[in-house]
Amino acid sequence: MIILKSDSEIKLMREAGRIVAIVLNELAEKVKPGINTAQLDRWAEEIIRKHHAIPTFKGYNGFPATITTSVNEELVHGIPSQKKVLKEGDIISLDCGATLNGWVGDAALTVPVGEISPEAQKLLDVTERALYVGIEQARVGNRSGDISAAIQEYVEKHGYSVVRNYTGHGVGRNMHEDPQVPNYGRKHRGIPLKKGMTIALEPMVNVGTPRTRVLADQWTVVTDDGKLSAHFEHTIAITNGDPLILTQL
Ligand code: MG
Ligand code: MG
Repeated sequence: MIILKSDSEIKLMREAGRIVAIVLNELAEKVKPGINTAQLDRWAEEIIRKHHAIPTFKGYNGFPATITTSVNEELVHGIPSQKKVLKEGDIISLDCGATLNGWVGDAALTVPVGEISPEAQKLLDVTERALYVGIEQARVGNRSGDISAAIQEYVEKHGYSVVRNYTGHGVGRNMHEDPQVPNYGRKHRGIPLKKGMTIALEPMVNVGTPRTRVLADQWTVVTDDGKLSAHFEHTIAITNGDPLILTQL
């Protein structure tokens, strides 16, 4: 069931989303060679609690941390760890959720650790751009397939693949609501987009195969071929005009 949000509810979601944006911005500046992902997680929780919000991920299906940190071939759901020390040339995806007054914001970005290769930088650029290409389609009169197809087309045009096993999703009082919005699909298919829908769009883009697997920790998702993967996400609201990004400053 898709839950439409009123303007005042979207305003509340925007406040939750703003906290996520603050976290991701601050963490992106702290990412550098030599720090470990548990430090990033600690900082994220401090920032969220300072803003009187709750880390949405912590305890979600038993997840042990505030953010997910996914390095290089890891695409999503990496568990922060003191043992995971960032090295020059890595890329790291940071995914964060914050709940404020019962409303959830969910966003992610992938950032370079120090100097990265031009190939890795291109992957980040294409993945981030794919998110905005998708957001551009999030309009009344379109269907969810218009978002999906736009993302897939943009990514594949650059020679990369989109992950099938994980998708964008509705978000509101719960982090995962209907509808699912895959990063692949066909134009004019899927559900009609309506004012008041709030959706987390999150392209996950692989350099090689779209296939993925889950590590023995039961959480970390990696590319099946071990090649790089990137991930960008925003929570957005569909309005009568332009799509509204809720997870930004
Ligand atoms: Mg997320
Ligand atoms: Mg999400």
